[in-house]
Amino acid sequence: MTSLSPETRRLIDEAVASGRFTRIPAGMRADSAPIPRPKRGRPRKNGETLSELKARRATKAAGKIADRRRFKVSPVPSGTTRVIVAADTPGTIFSTRIATPASGDRVLKDGASSCKIGGDVHKGRLRGARIYTLTLEERATCPRSCGLWQACYGNAMPHPTRWQRGPELERAVAEEVAALCAPGDPVLIRLHILGDFYSFDYLRLWVALLDDHPNLNVFGFTAWPPGTHIGDGIARVRAALGRRFSIRHSGRTGPWGSFTINFPTERPRLGDAVVCPEQAEAMNGRQGRHCGNCCLCWQSDLPIVFVEH
Ligand code: SF4
Ligand code: SF4
Repeated sequence: MTSLSPETRRLIDEAVASGRFTRIPAGMRADSAPIPRPKRGRPRKNGETLSELKARRATKAAGKIADRRRFKVSPVPSGTTRVIVAADTPGTIFSTRIATPASGDRVLKDGASSCKIGGDVHKGRLRGARIYTLTLEERATCPRSCGLWQACYGNAMPHPTRWQRGPELERAVAEEVAALCAPGDPVLIRLHILGDFYSFDYLRLWVALLDDHPNLNVFGFTAWPPGTHIGDGIARVRAALGRRFSIRHSGRTGPWGSFTINFPTERPRLGDAVVCPEQAEAMNGRQGRHCGNCCLCWQSDLPIVFVEH
C-alpha cells in the first residue's frame, strides 16, 4: 500500500474538489494497487511477450498427440524377399500362430504395437483417432491370384497372431468395433496386416459396421482385383463411403492402386505412384514416419508403391 503524507493527501483532496482531476491518478490513492510494471521482453506479434508466447506454446503442446509407439525404429526395406514358399502352400507357415477368438480375446490390436502403423492419427480429418489393426491368416484368406502368394511378407512375420476366419472372428470383430466406437470418437482400423476379405459375407459385415458406426473408418489393401465378385464389391463400397473405406487394390497403379517393387529407391515418387513415406524415409536414413503421421492411405486415392522387405 502506498503511504501518503498528510500534506500530499490534502493537496490531492483540494485538486479533486477544485475539479482539476476528475479522478485521482492511479497510484496516488492511499488504497490503490501498485502500478503494474511495464511488460518485459521484446513485444512480439499481437503485442505478445516472450513469456506469453511460451505459455501459449505450452498450451498448444498440451494438445499435441503423443507418439505412443512401443518401438520407433523400423527395418530399412531392401527390395529383397527373404522367404519364398512353395506355390501350393495353403496358409501361413507359422501354424502355431493361428487362433480362434475365444471369450476375452481381443482381435483388434492397438496400432501403437507396430512401429510402422502407430496408435493415433496425428493430422487431417481423422486427427485424434485411435488406430487398431486386424491380422488374419495369410494365403488361407486371400485370392490365389495374389502376385505375392509365394513371397508374402507374412513369411517373415513369425510373431503376430493370425485370427481364424469364421463366425467367432466375426462376432468378436462386431463386439469390439461397437465398444471402440461407442464413445463417439473417430476410430480407424487397418485391414488387414495379413490376410484379406475372405468372403462376400465378411465384406458385408464391414459394410454393416460402417453403417452402424458413423465414426468408424478403415484402410488397407486387398489382392482381390476389380472384375471379381469381392473386388467389385470393395470398389462399390468405396464409391459409396469414400475415404471411410480406403481399401486399395494391390498389384496395380492408378487411383486406389498399390504395387510392390523389388529394388530400393530414394525417390519419393515412381511415375504417378507415391513411395510409401514410411519406407522412403527409412531408405533415406531417417526414422519417425508412420501411418499415424503420414495419413496418405486414407487422405488420398493416389497409388502407393512399396519396396519388398
Ligand atoms: S494378399 Fe497379402 S497376405 Fe495374402 S498372400 Fe498376398 S501378400 Fe500375403
Ligand atoms: S503410405 Fe503412409 S499411411 Fe500408407 S502405409 Fe505408407 S506410411 Fe502408412
